[in-house]
Amino acid sequence: VISQVQINDWLKEIAVVMSKDKDYLSQLDAAIGDADHGVNMDRGFQKVLGKLESFNGQDIGAIFKNTGMTLISSVGGASGPLYGKFFMQMGMALKGKMELNLEDLKEGISKGLDGVKGIGKASLGDKTMVDVWIPVVESLNESVNEQETLEIAAAKMVEAAETGLKSTINMIARKGRASYLGERSIGHQDPGATSSCSIVKVLQGIIV
Ligand code: ADP
Ligand code: MG
Ligand code: MG
Repeated sequence: VISQVQINDWLKEIAVVMSKDKDYLSQLDAAIGDADHGVNMDRGFQKVLGKLESFNGQDIGAIFKNTGMTLISSVGGASGPLYGKFFMQMGMALKGKMELNLEDLKEGISKGLDGVKGIGKASLGDKTMVDVWIPVVESLNESVNEQETLEIAAAKMVEAAETGLKSTINMIARKGRASYLGERSIGHQDPGATSSCSIVKVLQGIIV
């Protein structure tokens, strides 16, 4: 199972990675957007990092809900409300949980994805972060059905995320700022899908 401490470490490690990848993510966004994705993600997760201690003792659902609210209130642009909704919906689905098994994890991420789709209206192939989260949820679903261990499920989830991320390169953007470029968005990896893939990799890191 995944403990509250591990969830705390996940959020902490996301902040570290977003800070490290800040320039890279903004460069990706410079090609098809407004060059601020790294700045946005770093700002949001530094705020989350600053609040982690105050989340101490809360159940996992509450921690995610507070994370989501922090992101919404501190990140402008599309990614703030989208990631904010992701974590808030995940928190709602995991309300009262003190630890997560594979089924819980699948349920949380699946509800988070539903939240993102609900406000962003993106489908598979639109060149957004959901091109990472949809295959991740599919992979977790399969792992639940096959009764795999968390470790195996996590490894497969990362593979699904990486494949999803790569697939955004050749897509035409149909949502968000990048969609203004039309066909000129082809050939560039989506910044939001890139940060999402990192979040998935860090999740594997706290599981194994
Ligand atoms: P902004 O585009 O407002 O500057 P960011 O640069 O922080 O915001 O985030 C851009 C990322 O947000 C995109 O790379 C994409 O993955 C994601 N995104 C944009 N619009 C949507 C949407 N409607 N649904 C899902 N994801 C989206
Ligand atoms: Mg941007
Ligand atoms: Mg912006």
